[in-house]
Amino acid sequence: MAEIILRSLAHTYDAKAGADSDYAIRQMDHVWHQGGAYALLGPSGCGKSTMLNIISGLLSPSEGEVLFDTERVNELSPEERNIAQVFQFPVVYDTMTVYDNLAFPLKNIGMAKHLIPAKVHEVADILELTSVLHRKAKNLSADEKQKVSMGRGLVRDDVSAILFDEPLTVIDPQLKWKLRRKLKQIHERFNITMIYVTHDQLEASTFAEKIAVMYDGQIVQFGTPRELFERPAHTFVGFFIGSPGMNFLEVTVDEHNVHFSGLRIPANPRRLQSAIASGSSNIKAGIRPEFIHVWDEPNDEAFEVEVQDVEDLGTYRILSFYLGGQIVRARLNEDQNIPSQKAYVSFPEQWLNIYVDEYRVGDDDE
Ligand code: ADP
Ligand code: MG
Repeated sequence: MAEIILRSLAHTYDAKAGADSDYAIRQMDHVWHQGGAYALLGPSGCGKSTMLNIISGLLSPSEGEVLFDTERVNELSPEERNIAQVFQFPVVYDTMTVYDNLAFPLKNIGMAKHLIPAKVHEVADILELTSVLHRKAKNLSADEKQKVSMGRGLVRDDVSAILFDEPLTVIDPQLKWKLRRKLKQIHERFNITMIYVTHDQLEASTFAEKIAVMYDGQIVQFGTPRELFERPAHTFVGFFIGSPGMNFLEVTVDEHNVHFSGLRIPANPRRLQSAIASGSSNIKAGIRPEFIHVWDEPNDEAFEVEVQDVEDLGTYRILSFYLGGQIVRARLNEDQNIPSQKAYVSFPEQWLNIYVDEYRVGDDDE
């Protein structure tokens, strides 16, 4: 068991790397605490697998250190690091039975023979593989093979951490949901640090207590699903998390308002002050569709806007409207009146975030 510390870590696959953009991992510090259930979430190509492989030791980082607790492990092999890793596609021994596939990691670490069957059966039971234990792996379906692959990762409870690299990609949706819950149960039972890589926000938030959102080789936010939703630290988090994502307006600011296309929208003074102090001209206001207030009648604090479209998504509706020529989306609850041509909207100060050079400003969380 260990805390995993990444110190001034960076990685490039390009021997002649110079610019930031040559790096798959841009220099970062990060701590994965012992016993956490974490997700590493980000789009394809942002560096998730690179980071996992650096932690497990399959890949040696170009810069920086990996520490388990206080020990530097850069020079240690994956076996010596004592980490289990489950990949996107099954890694099983086709000619062995499912039982032998699951027993293999235990034999490898020299577990006493009489202890092995109980452990294998326990994992087989959790993953619902008991009925196929004596089948050869090559005769299994893709789903079953991946479950065996996961079982091989889960069978040892003496590992420092278990890393999952998009393990449910080849699994059908129904089973996916079940396996995610199983992983969570396993985590609760054994308290092993787990890092679960995915590009799917739903998968991340159902599995993890804390999510690291990765974008372009950087972890741009590490927080609970709620923090990512309510206080996206970076515009990418606002955009990537949520459905639809956060609305962004390119604005200018004064001490009381953001200015957008001739409109003055009141905003939090501390956030505005930070934006002014930055001197940057790249300032955005961001608000989630869920937090925009919408009326179908005029109202003192509301802006009159033109409705573009209302999309019915069953339990809620998405209202799209024009604000200063730009489309903005608001989420309406089931019981809310639907404005037709004109709607009246306001942007509660608390939920209007200000971003300078893509990062949220105004230290007003506490
Ligand atoms: P993710 O897992 O988030 O999809 P990766 O870590 O696989 O992202 O890749 C990050 C970046 O590094 C991408 O631009 C990818 O093309 C590049 N990359 C990954 N593996 C290699 C490799 N073996 N050689 C060269 N470039 C690579
Ligand atoms: Mg990957």
